[in-house]
Amino acid sequence: MTGILTGVTVALLAGWFLWERLRPAFPWPSSRARLLRNAMLGVVGFGTTFLVVTPVSLGAAEIGPAWREAWPMWLRLGTDILLLEFYIYWWHRANHEVPLLWRFHRVHHYDEFLDVTSALRFHPGEVILSAFVRGLWVLALDISIPAILLFDALVIIAAGFHHSNVMLREKTDDAIRKVIVSPHHHRIHHIPERRYTDSNYGTLFTFWDRFFGTYREADTRGQYGVEGTHDAPFGQLMKDPFGKA
Ligand SMILES: [Zn+2]
Repeated sequence: MTGILTGVTVALLAGWFLWERLRPAFPWPSSRARLLRNAMLGVVGFGTTFLVVTPVSLGAAEIGPAWREAWPMWLRLGTDILLLEFYIYWWHRANHEVPLLWRFHRVHHYDEFLDVTSALRFHPGEVILSAFVRGLWVLALDISIPAILLFDALVIIAAGFHHSNVMLREKTDDAIRKVIVSPHHHRIHHIPERRYTDSNYGTLFTFWDRFFGTYREADTRGQYGVEGTHDAPFGQLMKDPFGKA
C-alpha cells in the first residue's frame, strides 16, 4: 500500500508542477532565489516529516487503546479521515492564533508567490511540534494506520494542488471549492492582510471553514506574504522563529 501511495503522490505532484507551467494563473517571478529557498526548506521539512511526523503517528496508533477496532473498515476509515481533517483544521488555526506557533508557521507565509514549491516550505520546528500534538490525537481517538498513511498522502497531493499557480476557469474553481480546497480558496489564505491570512484554514475540505466561520471570499492578484515583512534567505528563515515577534 505504501509503495502505491508514494508513487501516486509523486506522480500527481509532478503533474501539478507541469500543469502550472502550461497554464499559469499569474506571471512567474523572475528571481530563482525563491525556488532554491523553497526547495531547501522542502528538503528539511519533508525530511522531518518522514523522520518524525509519520513515525510518531504510527507509533501512537500502535500503542493507543484500540476502542474502535470492531468498527466496520469503511466506517472507521471514513471517520479517521474526518477526524484527521478536523485536527489539521484546528492545528492550522492554532498556528495563526497562538503567537508562539505563528513564529514558526509565518515562515510558510513569507512566500511572496504561490506555486507547487510553496507547499513544501515549512519550518522544521512547526513540523516537529505538529508531530507530537497529532500523536496525542491519534492515540486518544484510536486512528488507524491505513488512515494515517492515506491522509498524509492526500495532504501532500492537496497541498501541491491548492498552492499551485494553475489557472482554473472560475466556474471550475467555484465548483471544486464547494467541497475541496481549491487554488483560489487557498490563495485568499495567503493574502498579506491579516483578516484574510487568518481565514480558509482547510487542507482537504472547505466544510470546517464554513462550519467554524472562517470561510472568506476575495479577489487575489498573485501577490502574497505577511503584512509588513519580506521573504528572507534560507539561513535567516531558519532562525526567524527565535528572533523578534
Ligand atoms: Zn497558514
